[in-house]
Amino acid sequence: MLIFDNVSRIYSDGTQAVKEVSIRLEKSGFCVLLGPSGAGKSTLMNMVNGLVEPSSGKIYLDGQPLEKKNLKMIQRSVSMIHQQLYLVPRLSVLSNVLTGVLPQAGFWLSMIKYFPVKDQQRACELLSEVGLEEKHLVRRASELSGGQQQRVAIARAFMASPKVVLADEPVASLDPAMSRSVLNSLKTAAQINGAAVLCTLHQMDYALEFADRIIALRDGEVFFDGPPSEMTADV
Ligand code: ADP
Ligand code: ADP
Repeated sequence: MLIFDNVSRIYSDGTQAVKEVSIRLEKSGFCVLLGPSGAGKSTLMNMVNGLVEPSSGKIYLDGQPLEKKNLKMIQRSVSMIHQQLYLVPRLSVLSNVLTGVLPQAGFWLSMIKYFPVKDQQRACELLSEVGLEEKHLVRRASELSGGQQQRVAIARAFMASPKVVLADEPVASLDPAMSRSVLNSLKTAAQINGAAVLCTLHQMDYALEFADRIIALRDGEVFFDGPPSEMTADV
């Protein structure tokens, strides 16, 4: 359903960040974009959420080209977990998740005091899916640990029932035990909610442990695309 058709990106300074990438992602699953810093992972991801335009080639979501004129469709269908999370620190955990009802409109929604009961139920469900205990729901986001905040951001990303969830290095600042537990939450949420998760990582061991599929990038090119079981030491 998410198709990259021969996509390249050359930045204005001449840097060729992504070179002739073709990928087909199915409706659901946990797909890791693996590669060292500078490999083109963020560029590829930002072409899915509309922040960066391909220089050539096209990206399709359910047959619709992702282009500027389809920005509304992109915002409805794609949600992103940023490395900085962007939670609203003074709001409760539950309210933070509720701001995900409309992707990209978190700030304005955070001004609304009451949400429909069905949205509140959905937010509670999502928080339980990502393993955040009920006692935390009324705490301010700023009072939580890094790993707990990451879970709140994951729950919020699924709130609007997106087709694609992009996660930018979600475990970059966490210790190994917390990293595993957060990646597990992300994978579970993808399975339960039937979304395609595209997650950038630079650690091969986490990719091997959690991914359904690994797409490995080097210098903007895909040099491996397949399940972890096919990834050998020489790739
Ligand atoms: P083909 O092009 O041969 O039809 P795909 O490229 O659709 O196959 O899928 C290749 C492999 O990647 C399959 O094993 C599929 O299950 C897996 N896969 C497809 N989409 C995803 C996704 N969103 N997340 C994780 N794995 C996926
Ligand atoms: P990654 O996410 O894997 O670290 P990026 O997509 O951020 O890779 O970067 C790929 C390449 O594109 C790098 O050489 C980087 O320096 C370059 N690049 C990224 N963003 C820009 C930009 N806005 N302008 C120019 N070059 C950029």
